[in-house]
Amino acid sequence: MERTKISEIWNPELIGKDVCVKGWVRTRRGNKHVQFVALNDGSTIKNIQIVFDMEKFTEDQLKPITTGASLHVEGKLVESQGKGQTAEIQAETLEIYGTADVNDYPLQKKGHTLEFLREKAHLRPRTNTFGAVLRIRHTLAFAIHKFFNDHGFFYLNTPLITSSDCEGAGAMFQVTTLDLNNVPKGEDGKVDYSQDFFGKPASLTVSGQLEGELGATALGAIYTFGPTFRAENSNTPRHLAEFWMIEPEVAFNDINDNMQLAEDFIKYCINYALENAADDIEFLAKMYDEELVDRLKSVVSHEFVRLTYTEGVKILEESGHKFEFPVYWGADLQSEHERFLVEEHFKRPVILTDYPKEIKAFYMKQNDDGKTVRAMDVLFPKIGEIIGGSEREESYDKLLARIDELGIPMKDMWWYLDTRRFGTVPHSGFGLGFERLLLFVTGMTNIRDVIPFPRTPNNCEF
Ligand code: ATP
Ligand code: MN
Repeated sequence: MERTKISEIWNPELIGKDVCVKGWVRTRRGNKHVQFVALNDGSTIKNIQIVFDMEKFTEDQLKPITTGASLHVEGKLVESQGKGQTAEIQAETLEIYGTADVNDYPLQKKGHTLEFLREKAHLRPRTNTFGAVLRIRHTLAFAIHKFFNDHGFFYLNTPLITSSDCEGAGAMFQVTTLDLNNVPKGEDGKVDYSQDFFGKPASLTVSGQLEGELGATALGAIYTFGPTFRAENSNTPRHLAEFWMIEPEVAFNDINDNMQLAEDFIKYCINYALENAADDIEFLAKMYDEELVDRLKSVVSHEFVRLTYTEGVKILEESGHKFEFPVYWGADLQSEHERFLVEEHFKRPVILTDYPKEIKAFYMKQNDDGKTVRAMDVLFPKIGEIIGGSEREESYDKLLARIDELGIPMKDMWWYLDTRRFGTVPHSGFGLGFERLLLFVTGMTNIRDVIPFPRTPNNCEF
């Protein structure tokens, strides 16, 4: 008989029909007359209840059905008497694919802590929490591609291995095939990279933006969506060494268009999740964060505040609030500052613009004041910075001057500068950290809990 996924079983037309389901046992309970098994196949947060009439089955047959075991069951789908359930299956046949020893299988009881589950990252997708998080992750990934496709953007795959080390977005992981126990050295005593795989130093990318600009100044509007690597030794609940970033880049967009795009895009994603992952979001809300759904709805129904960095700093200075890190004009804002503006002061997302040029990247468009650049960070409740972006400097001369000022090696940048030499245009873009968006939508508080296989300092298990 053909298998029905449990997500498809809650269909009134199937009531009274014979069905086949396959999945993993969540719980078994009952007595010597009747046994109940909650089965889950990962397609939905909901378990289907299987009822075993003990006149048809023996104790011995059911004995291997413990939490974690995998089953194939056929039987009749009937309306359920139990509260909260609409249907259950009266088992006719049972096949046990695999057992899960009660003494060894780590996910016996419910209510394991998230810390415990991080230690069992290889099995945690089988829990309700991680099933919900991973389905929401998929739903949002799909929404992102859909949003950009529907708005005429092209998906551009930028390189993961790069030889440009000038973005300055964070420490890079080096990529090499040299024997680290026997590194070839030149006469100057430095590593001889001519013997390395690429004939020069190479690293994992910290951002696809610079290559994204090559795409945008050809295709008009592109987005990237791929893994990004930063060897930042910051053990925070908001940083991963390997994370996924979405980077749209649009020719002819100025900073205002860029802010509008960021706001429309992020609201679209949150709405899409509310509409298409409601069961999973409600589950997480019930388990971890009662205000989650209200917070999501509030963000999509209010306009984001738009404010300059200078105005933001003034609000922080005048707030009288004691921050751990000092705040003054020129300081790089910390997450506590960002969250104060969002959660205490405005009580909605804030887009902060026109940051001091010293704390932002070289490619951002310089304002006429000589002090600030056309940067924009989107700040979110519970998260702080969720998006970082800017209008880009399109003037060849100004860009070159800034590159010189910062001492960025020119020989690495020739291909980037060509965008400004040949048919340069105003353009803008931003980077959204996919896991930061997921933190917001799932209500999880540690970024390690919204990616299937987290990589952080001293943590690279499989
Ligand atoms: P932060 O100040 O929070 O470290 P950033 O300013 O270094 O971030 P950007 O270079 O602006 O980050 O990157 C764009 C987006 O990528 C950020 O707004 C954030 O959502 C996400 N991001 C950056 N670093 C990380 C990281 N280590 N782990 C997860 N997401 C990240
Ligand atoms: Mn940033």
